Amino acid sequence: MTLPFPIEEKYFHYSRYLHDRFQTRVYRVSVDGGFTCPTRDGSKSVGGCLYCSNDSFAPTRTEILPSISDQVKNGMEMIQHFHKAKKFLCYFQPFTNTYAPVDKLEKLYREALALPDVIGLCIGTRPDCVSEEILQLLENLNRDSYISVEFGIESVYDKTLAWTKRGHTFDVTRRAIQSAKDHGLHVSGHLILGFPTETPEEMLATVDVLNTLDIDALKIHHLHVVKTTPLAKIYAEQPFRVFSENEWITLVCDFLERLRPDISIQRLCGEARTGTLVAPVWNLSKSEIIEGILAELTRRGTHQGFLFNQIEPEK
Ligand code: SF4
Repeated sequence: MTLPFPIEEKYFHYSRYLHDRFQTRVYRVSVDGGFTCPTRDGSKSVGGCLYCSNDSFAPTRTEILPSISDQVKNGMEMIQHFHKAKKFLCYFQPFTNTYAPVDKLEKLYREALALPDVIGLCIGTRPDCVSEEILQLLENLNRDSYISVEFGIESVYDKTLAWTKRGHTFDVTRRAIQSAKDHGLHVSGHLILGFPTETPEEMLATVDVLNTLDIDALKIHHLHVVKTTPLAKIYAEQPFRVFSENEWITLVCDFLERLRPDISIQRLCGEARTGTLVAPVWNLSKSEIIEGILAELTRRGTHQGFLFNQIEPEK
């Protein structure tokens, strides 16, 4: 397979994918559509998934949300202040952004797409919240815009999905991804590694399962124990092992070497807002972790996909 990225870049950056596709730099503007989740509103459970605190990565929700147009315009202004940005994707990020009646979704999505320089949408959601009707709406929007659906895969193991109170199995994830692809959408997955329900071998074996999924892009996140979550309570009562910086860098390199090279990478570690994290608290910044991953792949002389469909050589 020909690599879709220059080998010196070591992995397939999503920014490269966007640049190759749109011939310019494309930036994402996060917006809050005012959604909730079936694990919060009581339809499946209350309290959310075990580890989840949207406050750790998104601004705390105010009582009255600004309109989608205002949120996008403010976000674009901020980005344009620092970069010469010309094209934008509107990223419906917090909570479950397909969890509403289809007419409400269409109104919100079209409001964003009507703004000048917005060329598409990224929509974060759960695999159990994409009906055929919603996928048909997204397929229609995808005719004139770029529509990417980001599924919370989180784990490929049912034991972990049950422990984290996700409210669905991995089979639901697999089927949702395939349905979205059948509707012609760009599909991305969000994965968390580090759950105490999985052995290191199982975490690494996750990549073999991912390689069988029809995903276009991937976010890999190390497990965060965030204040005020049910996971923080479990951790306080019975601390479990979390990744050190070096352990994470090693695991990500092992993972990337095995990952299909055509899957673009949107994220290689988690990030939490200051003051929200219980563990692991690292001394290295996100960019230093990325530098560490690149340095380790360089030391090994490998890259994303190096071991895909190969027998691992001795290191
Ligand atoms: S992890 Fe996702 S689905 Fe679960 S409660 Fe948080 S936002 Fe909702």
